Amino acid sequence: VVTTAPLPADQDMNLPYGGAMVTIEDVTALEDAEAMRRDFVANVSHELRTPLTALMGFIETLRGNARDDPAARDRFLGIMEREAARMNRLVGDLLSLSRVEAEERRVPTTEVDLSAVLKGAMQTLAPTAETRGVALLREGETGRLPVRGDPDQLTQVFANLIENGIKYGGSGGEVRITVTRVAHEPVLRGPALRVEVADKGEGIDEIHLPRLTERFYRVDTHRSREQGGTGLGLAIVKHIVSRHRGRLKIDSRKGEGSRFVIVLPAL
Ligand code: ADP
Repeated sequence: VVTTAPLPADQDMNLPYGGAMVTIEDVTALEDAEAMRRDFVANVSHELRTPLTALMGFIETLRGNARDDPAARDRFLGIMEREAARMNRLVGDLLSLSRVEAEERRVPTTEVDLSAVLKGAMQTLAPTAETRGVALLREGETGRLPVRGDPDQLTQVFANLIENGIKYGGSGGEVRITVTRVAHEPVLRGPALRVEVADKGEGIDEIHLPRLTERFYRVDTHRSREQGGTGLGLAIVKHIVSRHRGRLKIDSRKGEGSRFVIVLPAL
C-alpha cells in the first residue's frame, strides 16, 4: 500500500520537488491473515448452523405432528441427540485447536514414553474399531521410547490418525501402527522416532494432499459428516506436531490406502 499525503506546512524536510510524504507499507501478509480469519469465522458459523438448523426443525416437528406419535418422537430424539453430539465435538475441536495454537511456540520439556502414548490412543479407539470390525495392529519398536512432549496432545495426534484410519479405512479393514527408530533424521538433524499409521482404505487423490491439514478441508464433505468428522482433526495434528518440532508426512493412493507418518525428535 502506498499512501501519499501533502507535507504539513510546518515541516521543512528539504524536499526539492514540492514535498509530499510517501509511506510504503507491505500489508499483503496482514491482508492474508485477515482473509483467513474471516474465512475461518464463516466456516465455523456454517458448521455450527447446520446441526442447529436440524435441531430447530425437529423441535418444531415434535411440537406439531410428532407429539402423539411415540415411534416418530423416539426417532427424532435420536437424530437430535446425534446433532447435539456433533456440535459438542465441533466445539471441543475448536477449543483444542485454539489451545494448541496458543501454545505452539512453547516447546514441551517433559519426558514422555511414546509407547505409553500409543497404547493409550489405541485403547481409546479400541471400542470404535471393534464396532466397525477394524483390526488395530501395533508393530515395530516396543519398550520405552522417550521423547519430549505433552502426553495429552501426543495422544490426541495418534487418536486422530487412528480414528481417521478406522473411519476411512473401510469396515473389516485394519489400521497398522508401526514405530521405527531413525539414527539420524536429516531434517530434524538428529535421532528420531518414526510412527506410521496406515490403512488399506479408500485412499486420497493426490490433488487433495497439500490441503488436507487446512481447517475444515475435506475430500468429501458428505462422507466426513456421515462419519461424524469435524474437518479439524488433521489441522490439530499439524499444530501439535509442529509444537513438538516434529514432521508430518501424508502418503496416499486413491483406492489403495493411506499412510500418515509422524517423525519426532528422539531423546
Ligand atoms: P474429518 O473430521 O473430516 O475426518 P480431518 O481433518 O481428520 O477431518 O481429515 C480431513 C479429511 O481428510 C477427511 O475429511 C477425509 O476426507 C481425509 N482423510 C483423513 N484421513 C484419511 C484416511 N485415513 N483415509 C482417507 N481419507 C482421509
